Amino acid sequence: MSPERTEGGAYGGVEELYREVILDHFKAPKNRGSLPNANAKADGMNPLCGDQLTLTGTIENGKLKDIRFEGHGCAVSQSAASMLTQVMKGKSLDDIRELAKTYKGLFGVEEEGAAKSKFKVDDLGDLIALEGVKKYPVRIKCALLSANTLLELIADHPRKS
Ligand code: ZN
Repeated sequence: MSPERTEGGAYGGVEELYREVILDHFKAPKNRGSLPNANAKADGMNPLCGDQLTLTGTIENGKLKDIRFEGHGCAVSQSAASMLTQVMKGKSLDDIRELAKTYKGLFGVEEEGAAKSKFKVDDLGDLIALEGVKKYPVRIKCALLSANTLLELIADHPRKS
């Protein structure tokens, strides 16, 4: 991936740090693969960009005990899946729904829900690195693909708190 000349120098600093976090997850993704003992599975795709994603998870007692992702697509979609699985693994399904609202709020999606979420942007871990994507509306779907697919994955499971 070549640096974007129109961008780099002007913004520098924080944005470049974020870009590095994104590329790190793209090159060395966390939780990649599929779970042989999964009891939940969801597929997602973003036809605009050609991103594809399959999530497998084990859900027990209202918690996402483990999760893996497989797929292909742009750096934003794949690194988002890596970051998201890292943040969401081990969380209760209720917390996942709340965190997803906070995450969508980063891009101006579901702002109202994000404001009411019990989690702040600081709770999003590396996902915060994707905030800059909001300047590129066409890429927001790439960033949200894994979050929406995860919400689908847990949708059929009853809430237990
Ligand atoms: Zn994409």
